[in-house]
Amino acid sequence: MPELPEVDSYRTGLAPTMIGWKIKGGKALWKNASDADFYSIINQKITGFDRRGKYLILNLDKSNIIIHLRMTGRIDLTENETPEYTTVELDFYNNKKMCLVDYRKFGKVWVVEDIEKIVGHLGIEPLSKQFTSKKFKLMIKKRKGTLKPLLLNQQFIAGIGNYLADEILFRANLHPLRTADTLNKKEINELYLSIRHIIRKSIRFGGTTFLTFRGPEGKKGKFWKKLQVFRKTGEPCPHCKRPITRIIVGQRSTHLCENKQKLHKKLH
Ligand SMILES: [Zn+2]
Repeated sequence: MPELPEVDSYRTGLAPTMIGWKIKGGKALWKNASDADFYSIINQKITGFDRRGKYLILNLDKSNIIIHLRMTGRIDLTENETPEYTTVELDFYNNKKMCLVDYRKFGKVWVVEDIEKIVGHLGIEPLSKQFTSKKFKLMIKKRKGTLKPLLLNQQFIAGIGNYLADEILFRANLHPLRTADTLNKKEINELYLSIRHIIRKSIRFGGTTFLTFRGPEGKKGKFWKKLQVFRKTGEPCPHCKRPITRIIVGQRSTHLCENKQKLHKKLH
């Protein structure tokens, strides 16, 4: 599932190519994917790209196109036939097409003037200047819940999905079932550093390649080679060599080293 790094690689990859392109039209080939008024954006040019959480934002002269790839969505630029499984297509005067290709069809496209209408509910951007360790300490002190679902909560921090959450908790030596109110100062700081470190590292390596994700140039991300625990059930932990285990937390597959990420601390 595309998470913050994968969406960010579309942002940085598509911007140099697509800025200045003028829209000729657009349509939803799968009705549930969009009820946007594509007539309203005809003749508008792309002026910029942005991202909030897992949402990709195309700024136009007057409006914005917002795309969420959900489970299996990817973006294809083409000049030829519309690819199979395209749910939404945008056409440009240079004869290129931007297609949301999505075989499970959960991805969505909006056209809005006010971006906040769609992304206003999102929590803090984990790589922003505002997300300091001091700020994180205050954020986590208000929470009591289990760590894994908390990291996945887009209203808490925007952009973290299943693979990032598992990798972050592994690096921070925190069991996914620990609750926020049991963390000491040092653990809170480790969690903060791990959030920044893992997301930055995944962006640097172009994200992962799970399911249908490919980068903007059709190239596969290399971060999957750097994964320590995600989808590594039974393989040796890179630190202690004990097998990685898989548990279910909040209905999500969760991977961890139970030796490195202890649920209960020894009482001595
Ligand atoms: Zn281990």
